[in-house]
Amino acid sequence: MSHQDHPSTEVLADHAEDLLSEAGAGLVGAHLDECAGCRINALLLALLREILAADDPGPMPARHAARIEVTLAELAITEPVLSAELVAARQARPRLREPPTAVVAPRFSTSPRGAR
Ligand SMILES: [Zn+2]
Repeated sequence: MSHQDHPSTEVLADHAEDLLSEAGAGLVGAHLDECAGCRINALLLALLREILAADDPGPMPARHAARIEVTLAELAITEPVLSAELVAARQARPRLREPPTAVVAPRFSTSPRGAR
């Protein structure tokens, strides 16, 4: 890796996370020894990683959560994720013309649990 051939930000991040091969890490390490600009970028990446690890972002703002829920609901309608078996079963099943009648809940004893 020449002085002009700077590693990308992704490569620097992988180097910081020890995700590069031994040979790749050696090349990046040698480059960092010679290139002040990349050393600064690597330092900034390390600082960013520390900030992200230390900062509690808190709960997601409600407006973002609502947008995600709406988007997921739209996707469930426009691009349903169905298994091939479920699709085949639905196609084979005759369609009901009327909704099923309500199921009457069985009656339970109203006495407290354990009382006889
Ligand atoms: Zn560089």
